[in-house]
Parts: sequence; structure tokens; C-alpha cells
Amino acid sequence: MSVKEVLGYFILKALVGDVTVLNIIDDYFNLGMSPSEIARAYGISKYTVRGFIERVLVKGRYRYRSIEEAVRAYLPVVLGSVKPVIKFEGGLARCAICGKRLDSVAAANSHIVRAHGDLLNKLIKEVMARAGRKARERGVQEAPAT
Ligand SMILES: [Zn+2]
Repeated sequence: MSVKEVLGYFILKALVGDVTVLNIIDDYFNLGMSPSEIARAYGISKYTVRGFIERVLVKGRYRYRSIEEAVRAYLPVVLGSVKPVIKFEGGLARCAICGKRLDSVAAANSHIVRAHGDLLNKLIKEVMARAGRKARERGVQEAPAT
């Protein structure tokens, strides 16, 4: 289920508070901006931007259309409803759920996957349900299920 993996990645980024990456993913897959336009807008290298995009493509098994649909259906819901659980205090990160200190963003990512996988799975289900409801309210087809 590649779309679920893409959604899981969005939720993980939101839990870690890495909203910039999510905005960049939206700029590329939803707004159709090029990596160099995005790089200029954020003041980062286009290789960094390509790295973020590549990560999503791998999660979505390079099924470009399904990824675009997942970005449109789920990203606004993730950005609007998933609050960060990693708090950064003076260069150190701390997990607000269990209090564990984490020394990097990479450590925070793997901590959430290993220690709070149940929360991640619960949020995946919630976001899918909420996106489905929103789609029905707009009178359009069900959110992508593949
Ligand atoms: Zn924790």
C-alpha cells in the first residue's frame, strides 16, 4: 500500500514538526513548481529539494499520479490536524509523549517510528477518514484508496 506509506511519511514529518518539508512537497506535487523555483523560494539548494522529492517518490513506488492524489487529499488534513510531539529546546529535542531526549531530527524520526508506531497508525486511519469525509462533503469521489 504505497499511498499509506506516503501518508505515514507526511504524518511523521508533522509529528517531528518538519513542516517546511511538507510545504515543499505541496509546492512540487500540487502546485507544480520546479525544484529550482522551490530552492530559490526557500533559500536552499535544489539538490536538497530533489532529495525531499525523491524520498516521497520512493515511498510512493514512483506512482506519480497516486502520489499527487495523496498530496491533494491528505496533506491539507495533515497540516491542519497533526500537531508536533517533538519539542526543540535550546538545540535539544524532547519527545512530549514519553519525555525522552533526542539529539537530532533523525533520532526524533526513528524514535517516533519505534516507540510511538501505534500513534502513527492511529493518525493514518484518522487522516484517511477525515479526508474521505471532506471529499464526500465536496461531492467528489472517495479519497484514493490504493
Ligand atoms: Zn517518545
